[in-house]
Amino acid sequence: MESYIDKAKLIFFGRLCRLRTSCLSKQIFATRLFSYLENCTAVNLGFIKDICRILSKYDLYDHLLKFSQVASFPGKNPWKHIVSRAIKKYENLQYESRINGDYDFKLFKMIEPCISEPSRIWSIVQLVPKWSKEMYSLAKATMCVRECVNIKDCHLCKKYVHDGNFVVHAANACVLTQNARDKMWSSISNKLTTHTSAFLNSLDSIDFTCIILGAPLDITQCEISAEDYVDLIHISAQFWHICGYLTAAEEQ
Ligand SMILES: [Zn+2]
Repeated sequence: MESYIDKAKLIFFGRLCRLRTSCLSKQIFATRLFSYLENCTAVNLGFIKDICRILSKYDLYDHLLKFSQVASFPGKNPWKHIVSRAIKKYENLQYESRINGDYDFKLFKMIEPCISEPSRIWSIVQLVPKWSKEMYSLAKATMCVRECVNIKDCHLCKKYVHDGNFVVHAANACVLTQNARDKMWSSISNKLTTHTSAFLNSLDSIDFTCIILGAPLDITQCEISAEDYVDLIHISAQFWHICGYLTAAEEQ
């Protein structure tokens, strides 16, 4: 949300910089800007101070300096492009430092390695809205993909899970999800190509879990057609939807 507000302020700042010099708004803006730049340590609240902070935050301050020195500023569309790229870069760096610094996100970063691209789950729901219920269950499962340190017994089958990762256990080994898994593998064999089916069979439990949670395919360096990928995510979502019911029934 903050980046949307920052973007709107930066676009507005660009509009002010591009106004004609004879325009009164431009003259007021320029006077306040130069006054701030001359003595920015003085108490100075309002738009100018705020926009200087935002330009620094996204590494765009050089544009302000160039404007103040030679009165030059990018055009409307180039500036929009520069702002979007800078915000995307900043948000990605923030996201990476957050998930790389926390062991809890070890698997989650395989599923969502980058924040600037829309989630594949979201893109598929946009494509086929009638799948939204199952896709919601899939999205919920991605939120649970972390290793539990304190609890090691599966709450469904009560079996000890050595790494405490119950999502990987549910997708590969839990006896209580066996029927749902059989149904998923049957759909994989029947609906997807032999190439995709063989590829999924060849994956280890971690990679397979990440793929059926919507991870990008490049984590496995395999090419699957776009049609197969959409069908695979739907099959996976149906599996997680059944698992969701199992979990809910167990918790009651
Ligand atoms: Zn289990």
